[in-house]
Amino acid sequence: DHDNRKPWKGTPQAPDRLYFEADEITEEVAHFVATKFHYHPGQIDTSRLPATRADAVTLWQRAKRECMEHFGTYEDAMSTKAPALFHTLISSVMNLGRISPHQVIEDVLEMPIPMNSKEGFIRQVLGWREFIRHVHQQTDGLRELPQSVQPANRSADGTVNHLSADEPLPPVFWGEAPSGLACLDQVVNEVVETGYTHHINRLMVLANWATLLGVSPRELTDWFWSMFTDAYDWVVEPNVLGMGTFATGPLMSTKPYISGSAYMKRMSDYCGDCQFKAGKDCPMTSLYWSFLNRNAPELKSSIRMLMPLASARRRKDDQKAHDEQTLKHVRERLRAGKRVTVTPKVIEERQHGFA
Ligand SMILES: Cc1cc2nc3c(=O)[nH]c(=O)nc-3n(C[C@H](O)[C@H](O)[C@H](O)COP(=O)(O)OP(=O)(O)OC[C@H]3O[C@@H](n4cnc5c(N)ncnc54)[C@H](O)[C@@H]3O)c2cc1C
Ligand code: SF4
Repeated sequence: DHDNRKPWKGTPQAPDRLYFEADEITEEVAHFVATKFHYHPGQIDTSRLPATRADAVTLWQRAKRECMEHFGTYEDAMSTKAPALFHTLISSVMNLGRISPHQVIEDVLEMPIPMNSKEGFIRQVLGWREFIRHVHQQTDGLRELPQSVQPANRSADGTVNHLSADEPLPPVFWGEAPSGLACLDQVVNEVVETGYTHHINRLMVLANWATLLGVSPRELTDWFWSMFTDAYDWVVEPNVLGMGTFATGPLMSTKPYISGSAYMKRMSDYCGDCQFKAGKDCPMTSLYWSFLNRNAPELKSSIRMLMPLASARRRKDDQKAHDEQTLKHVRERLRAGKRVTVTPKVIEERQHGFA
């Protein structure tokens, strides 16, 4: 993991976008979708959508040639300048059966590439993709969980909801109302335009914001299912309910994947143009502390959460009050489809210099 966490600063050069030529069937399907479902979110651009077996082979050859060497090193990086970075974009065609997981693993095993890329990629496909499928199959789509790993709560419709999160999904996710949070707006735009964003954007931007806000895991899952070209129940549900929101509790991970803004600042270039200052007055950090204090009873059984929970507990009363006010402000603005604004308290702090 240590070798797979480098931020990307513009070099080595990331692969160019790949365009596809649509055949007659693809054009017909695109026309059908554009006509019948024109009121759905997103856009349809066949030049960006690999569809045939030949497209899948072209995409995979390009991945081997241009992505694989640096795949591992920049796996967790995020950038506005090269949104897909060294990710392969093969999930849609692999989930469609146009190319098999077995073939991509065999190919990568033979490639003379650095070990962090080889291991990192095989772990994604064999370790994660196949594990996710296994979880879905073994639990009847998360309906039947082993007694030892039951979530503490479920929603009224039966969806796992360990942390009892029930905030409605805000309109920003549908691309309808920019939030003023540069990272979230950037990634939502990518999804609306292409039906894709890479793994860390899904986990540490989209799911992170939703989890910190306390968004209903069911609503978030349905959103992922609607918006991504690689979405199928078997892969969306464990990823969003298990990995993204911790709604399954400890079934798939020992702790929630959440972060404050220091992580975003380190791993992305999103914060540079944002109205907020990462690590100083960014609301993500306040929401992180608020999340920990709010959910402490459900999280304290995880040994990996003991340190973060202790740090959250030790925050001074005025800091805790500020965290709660920030959560309230962000929720209210996003619910109403309005931009989150810099609060008067933050303006005052900026004028007097940060503590
Ligand atoms: C909240 C959330 C929702 C997700 N929803 C989907 C989804 O609807 N469909 C989907 O295929 N993947 C989903 N993923 C997993 C992963 O993000 C995508 O498979 C990956 O981003 C696809 O892009 P890529 O092909 O460029 O991947 P690369 O980074 O190039 O990785 C190579 C391959 O590894 C596999 N892989 C890696 N991680 C996972 C994983 N956690 N689950 C399944 N396969 C994985 C994919 O097949 C992917 O094509 C989700 C992850 C999260 C955190
Ligand atoms: S400062 Fe905060 S809201 Fe802005 S891009 Fe960075 S993490 Fe996102």
